[in-house]
Amino acid sequence: MKRLRIETLKSKVDAKIKWCREKVLEKYNHMITAEIRYDLSGTSRTGVCKYKGNIIRLNPFILKEYGDDYINTTVVHEFAHLVVNYIYRYKTRPHGREWKWMMRFLEAPPNRCSDYNMQTVIENTSMKVRRKVARPYLYKCVCREHQLTSNIHSKMVRGQRRSCLKCRQRITYIGMI
Ligand SMILES: [Zn+2]
Ligand SMILES: [Zn+2]
Repeated sequence: MKRLRIETLKSKVDAKIKWCREKVLEKYNHMITAEIRYDLSGTSRTGVCKYKGNIIRLNPFILKEYGDDYINTTVVHEFAHLVVNYIYRYKTRPHGREWKWMMRFLEAPPNRCSDYNMQTVIENTSMKVRRKVARPYLYKCVCREHQLTSNIHSKMVRGQRRSCLKCRQRITYIGMI
């Protein structure tokens, strides 16, 4: 699968939302506005929508890895929530009949969950998983602290010497973060 640049993917998201909005406008004579934010990271949330302010929050790392699949499922999934909320307010369950119908209307699979392989996302994108600190080994020189990876730390344990580029003093181990 060819990986697209994030800017290209974001404009594809915009195009998809526009297509959905027009389809809904035609049927319900109402333009659903949606503000798209790309501020989700981590492995637990693939997409989120907030009814207040009609905000759709997306995970740019999954977008990067899954591209069109993500756009055609998760993006539409969240948009469908906004439409259903507009039509029925809170009188329906989040993934109830009305939402499923809306998904089909928007030509997307009415599945509640998507099965993204988050391990692949972590490996192929630059997503950092919060639980794991990439540079957990703390060293110090005269002027500041340095954080090193376990790879470099084990070299240091085996006798490698490193000095600070700024003060030129040797750095020494203090402990883990
Ligand atoms: Zn949902
Ligand atoms: Zn220094």
